[in-house]
Amino acid sequence: MKRLFAVVLATVLCCLARQATAQTPRHVVVHAGHTLDVKSGKLLPDQTVEIEDGKIVGVSGAAGAKIPADAVRIDLPNATLLPGLIDAHTHLTMDPRFGYEILAISIPRETLTGAKNARLTLLAGFTTVRNVGASNFTDVALRDAINAGDVPGPRMLVSGPPLSITGGHCDNNMLPFEYHATEAGVADGIAAVQHKVRENIKYGSDLIKVCATGGVLSLGDNPQHSQYSLEEMKAIVADAHRLGRKVAAHAHGAEGIRWAAEAGVDSIEHGSYIDDAGIAIMKEHGTYLVPTLYLGDWMIENAGLTHLPPPLLAKAQEVIPAARKNIAHAFASGVKVAFGTDAAVYPHGLNAHEFAVMVKLGLTPLQAIQAATINAADLLGWSGKVGTLESGAWADLIAVDGDPLKDVTTLERVKFVMKGGEVVKNDYGK
Ligand SMILES: [Zn+2]
Repeated sequence: MKRLFAVVLATVLCCLARQATAQTPRHVVVHAGHTLDVKSGKLLPDQTVEIEDGKIVGVSGAAGAKIPADAVRIDLPNATLLPGLIDAHTHLTMDPRFGYEILAISIPRETLTGAKNARLTLLAGFTTVRNVGASNFTDVALRDAINAGDVPGPRMLVSGPPLSITGGHCDNNMLPFEYHATEAGVADGIAAVQHKVRENIKYGSDLIKVCATGGVLSLGDNPQHSQYSLEEMKAIVADAHRLGRKVAAHAHGAEGIRWAAEAGVDSIEHGSYIDDAGIAIMKEHGTYLVPTLYLGDWMIENAGLTHLPPPLLAKAQEVIPAARKNIAHAFASGVKVAFGTDAAVYPHGLNAHEFAVMVKLGLTPLQAIQAATINAADLLGWSGKVGTLESGAWADLIAVDGDPLKDVTTLERVKFVMKGGEVVKNDYGK
């Protein structure tokens, strides 16, 4: 029986592989007027990227390129080429709906929302995302559908339901007791959090997301309060790391940031009230900060449109200015930064607006671009595979007009997107 299964599986895989090669040309070469080397920050003229079976096999000056006879040639003489961008904090299956509006959205409906947003995110130049929180396992379904070629979208690493204490930021605190409404990721105590980490992995999570403090867009909690205890977070990180999964911690309050970093999480998300003690622990452990800044501008500008419940708007108005001040200080202190947006709090596809805010708060344009390429790739555990134009990486490329080192907002207008050697957008060809 097992042998029969193996034969059937081998046949299916073989057919799938044949289908994939029929859709995507084996050899592709992309020549661009300029190419940004995101490691050195150098803008190199007239480079050619050679691609074979969806992966980069060489990058060279136009004269030195070895171009196979069957190669499909793409010429972008007036464009600047970069690696596809990485957003380390998305919620593709969610849209900007807040408070009680969320209760009307079913799990199947949320998954379909994810298919819409995956395409928008890819077209905006984000060829990889780390999705840190979805209802149940809608993100696992979306990731698998993208990988199977059923729907267009970025490469995804997904967390499944975020772990939360009872009544915490990632629980459902909107209904009275008699409804017994509890989110899928709720777990209290060492044994329960260990079980939850293992359960999430069982159902397809690539990483673990934990809500270490209260949040802004939730009822009945305070972003400054730490939620999980240090011992619970240590148990979460120990199990996740032992099972080969990284941990992302939602953390606004200073104590929660310190505890999460001390417990050994791989990234602090938001980091609004980060203080010098937290910065010191993060630097010691090599923890990444994933600030999510542009959402502040969008939420305040669109508060009328989003029907944000008054207690949530009040929290946003208090947290956003404090976060900007503290994040600017963290940037100046040299903490490691990876790019993340929290897209879902605002419409998907606007992700690149984050760059300008990062620069406004003290990063250079190159540092902001590195946060969305080599740094985010390191945080995801995908160094050398994404966020870089070098041999062995997936052929995920974007192109823009002008020089993003001089004007980082040019990344808000991505004109060419390739994922795995396949062109998904080319406004230059029109
Ligand atoms: Zn988030």
